[in-house]
Amino acid sequence: MAAVAVVGAGVTGLVTAIGCARAGHRVTVLDRGAVPNPASTSSDQHRALRVLRPDDVDGTARMAEARRRWAELESLLRTDFVRPVGVVTAGTPDELARAFDTARQADVPATAVAPEALPPVLFPDGTSGVFDPGGAVLLADRFLRAAVGWLAAHPGVTLRPGCAVTGVQDHSVLADGEELQADVVLLAGGPWTRDLAGPPVVLHRQTMVYLRPPSHLTKWWATAPGVGRIGAERSAWLLPPGDGTLLKISSDAVCREVATTADADDPGPWARRLLAEPILAGAEDYVVAGTKDCHYAADAGTGGPVLARLHPSVWARSACGGSGFGAAPLVAREILGRVNDKECA
Ligand SMILES: Cc1cc2nc3c(=O)[nH]c(=O)nc-3n(C[C@H](O)[C@H](O)[C@H](O)COP(=O)(O)OP(=O)(O)OC[C@H]3O[C@@H](n4cnc5c(N)ncnc54)[C@H](O)[C@@H]3O)c2cc1C
Repeated sequence: MAAVAVVGAGVTGLVTAIGCARAGHRVTVLDRGAVPNPASTSSDQHRALRVLRPDDVDGTARMAEARRRWAELESLLRTDFVRPVGVVTAGTPDELARAFDTARQADVPATAVAPEALPPVLFPDGTSGVFDPGGAVLLADRFLRAAVGWLAAHPGVTLRPGCAVTGVQDHSVLADGEELQADVVLLAGGPWTRDLAGPPVVLHRQTMVYLRPPSHLTKWWATAPGVGRIGAERSAWLLPPGDGTLLKISSDAVCREVATTADADDPGPWARRLLAEPILAGAEDYVVAGTKDCHYAADAGTGGPVLARLHPSVWARSACGGSGFGAAPLVAREILGRVNDKECA
């Protein structure tokens, strides 16, 4: 049995803690905020899980594995938090042909969807859709609560809310003036991991707008899929409402590089810019129910997500990209593998 310290109670930390606890290890989860923390990047009504990654066969196979692990977590936690509505990606005929080729090579299902099948959604000119039935909407807050409930009841787990980690060394973290020893440490502080340690990352802030559909479309939206690569620059996406959540839209057009998470800007102009994007037919019939800013951290070199080894026993999820929620079980698997190997002990 190993001792594992997890810094950060977002999706990465919680899924990893569950995996390690189930394998019989002793786990301490530390978060400077509440557990779960409403200020974490993971805290939201929903997040998309896309399995099909056009032109990325390995990535598609990995996300298919992540999808299976989410289904296992759902049974373990006895809570429904995976909405299996699928995800549609808009593409030109050439892009769709490549997407089907990727699906075939990765052995995941994919079907064609005509824009007419999704009348409330505006498809960019010259595009149609590929439907990824393995894709899903993850009810993020519902998962976080269920995960914390499971961990709190597990005898091998200690949850330490309100505990800011101020330093990390091989085999230990410093928190509240105390040094906590561990065989393996995972820094899963989301966009704040970089304040603690790790390779350089670039911070991005992105605005999301939550909408209430008109009542005559409520039933249609209840079974609608997520949709991506729409909008003026084909960099917008939407997550459908359902199971108590609102419709959410966002776009790369409202993603900006920032120096710190602390210097909040006025989201108003960004929200207006987002609402002007051609995403929804009859957009004026939708009621704006809220807006939210959220931060990504991208690897300065590759722009992608990173799991970095900082010391023999210390791993850091220093960058978290647009698939960081859905991919959390893959990080957990990697860390558990290291713990089991006792590579770091
Ligand atoms: C606009 C936007 C939309 C997104 N949409 C999607 C999507 O549709 N699908 C998807 O898969 N992903 C999506 N993502 C990415 C995803 O949300 C994140 O990658 C993921 O939630 C990160 O989770 P995490 O657990 O790594 O970090 P977080 O959820 O940020 O958790 C980090 C925790 O660490 C704690 N912490 C930080 N520093 C310390 C410290 N020093 N001491 C103690 N505690 C500390 C924080 O308090 C926090 O609770 C989106 C991101 C953004 C910005």
